[in-house]
Amino acid sequence: MGTQGQQMEQQPLYIVGKRHTTTKTFQSIDPSTNQPITSVCTADREAVDLAVKAGRTAFSQWSATSPVERSRILLKAASILRARNDELATLETRDTGKPFSETSTVDVITGVDVLEYYAHLIASGGLDGETTQLRPDAWVYTTKSPLGVCAGIGAWNYPIQIALWKSAPCLAAGNCMVYKPSEFTPLHALQLAEIYTEAGVPPGVFNVVQGAGDVGAMLTSHPGIAKVSFTGQVSTGSRVAASAAAGMKYVTMELGGKSPCIILPDADLDSAVDGAMMANFFSTGQVCTNGTRIFVPDTLLAAFEKRLLAKMPLVRGGPVMDPSTNFGPLVSRPHFDKVGSYIRHGIETDCAKLLYGGLGAPTLPSGTDPAGNWIKPTIFTNCTDSMRITREEIFGPVMTILPYSTSSPKYLDTLIARANNTTMGLAAGVFTKNINLAHSVMARIEAGICWINTWGESPAEMPVGGWKMSGVGVENGRKGLEAWTRGKSVLVENGGSVGTVYAKL
Ligand code: NDP
Repeated sequence: MGTQGQQMEQQPLYIVGKRHTTTKTFQSIDPSTNQPITSVCTADREAVDLAVKAGRTAFSQWSATSPVERSRILLKAASILRARNDELATLETRDTGKPFSETSTVDVITGVDVLEYYAHLIASGGLDGETTQLRPDAWVYTTKSPLGVCAGIGAWNYPIQIALWKSAPCLAAGNCMVYKPSEFTPLHALQLAEIYTEAGVPPGVFNVVQGAGDVGAMLTSHPGIAKVSFTGQVSTGSRVAASAAAGMKYVTMELGGKSPCIILPDADLDSAVDGAMMANFFSTGQVCTNGTRIFVPDTLLAAFEKRLLAKMPLVRGGPVMDPSTNFGPLVSRPHFDKVGSYIRHGIETDCAKLLYGGLGAPTLPSGTDPAGNWIKPTIFTNCTDSMRITREEIFGPVMTILPYSTSSPKYLDTLIARANNTTMGLAAGVFTKNINLAHSVMARIEAGICWINTWGESPAEMPVGGWKMSGVGVENGRKGLEAWTRGKSVLVENGGSVGTVYAKL
């Protein structure tokens, strides 16, 4: 059935290295059963102020520690996280509904990879500035300083990974953080905070406040916050960025997408089918970089669909802790209703051809709780660009196949224009054996995260961020560390002159 387990203790906030309770609470719900797991304290204005103040107090000490010292502490946290991988993955499965086969091999691990990456980077010069010799007796040097107290606001799809992708570079650069997870997936936050403390992160450097959007809004407008790092929907991101702009805060915005996956006529069809499945059904389609618009040459459409249908039984719903389950329920009832309404719209209004899945019975994988948010992996084919299901982010397991003609010599221009014809620009991919063609398609694609002959991998070394409405700035990679610093340039004149203008008078 679900992840059941015992009722958990109430989840407090975490401020100044200690648990902090409030009187108002909300429920955390198991998506595989829709039963409450526990209650979570909601932060009020006083708690948010306290958390920001804790960060400001801790900042002077933490920012003054050497990068090597911070690195040592963060590496210790990484090793505790790795040692507790399965326990944390079980909690994440309970909170998100993702199968344990996924959370135990991806969610915690890819978060810790980033923590280790930044710990190593700061110990090996990642925060160094540059020196430029201007003249024999004058030079410019630059430094990178931490920003202060930063807000991390997370989405529900990769809770602990998002918490680590934000806090790792934030803390590594010498900042403090007040972190607010999504109220749909709050349970990882206390665990992470206590692990940081156990590893030696001083009190007040990493604080947790819990609650809904209003708590996030208190952070984005708080005068004590220097930067807002946000992951979520485009519409929320616009509000968050506007609020942060009013206080001239730094922002990083990791937002939604409607990414194209282009299969060219010479592609290896098996690998293209695998890529398309990965780009739509992993994590029950709740991945921001999903390639939900699959462009297939009309000449290959029948063969593509045949191979895809043959492989669909590999997408296996089932009890979320069962190691053979790789497809879980959707994260919440409101999200279940939203995805269901898109599938209904695809069938009834867009009149797309339903190739697989849909809303009819049976919807329930065997051994699961009928009260869970189960939905079938769904494929629509013969879709067109104007359909709502091909234009809007569904954030569920709904693939749309868009056939294209190769009869015109200019077909590639039309194809790329169609792929780019969206207000978003998060990710894109191309499948082809012609590597020159792959690079020329990539050069013309309007997206920040791109793959050639694969889909979805996002290692610590790879900076990721969206173009257009999909975001501002990047996370991960060397650039991801810079996003948590501000620069200073110092010109040094060593020749005894303050300049030439007055010296000549
Ligand atoms: P939301 O935008 O609904 O929420 C994101 C976070 O913002 C939540 O913690 C939410 O709180 C909080 N929030 C809501 N309103 C405000 C506000 N006015 N001020 C400050 N914070 C606020 O996103 P979802 O949680 O639904 O996440 C799914 C979305 O995230 C998808 O669009 C997906 O594409 C995107 N995403 C992008 C990624 C990327 O790297 N580009 C990665 C992962 C997801 P609460 O939910 O508790 O109300």
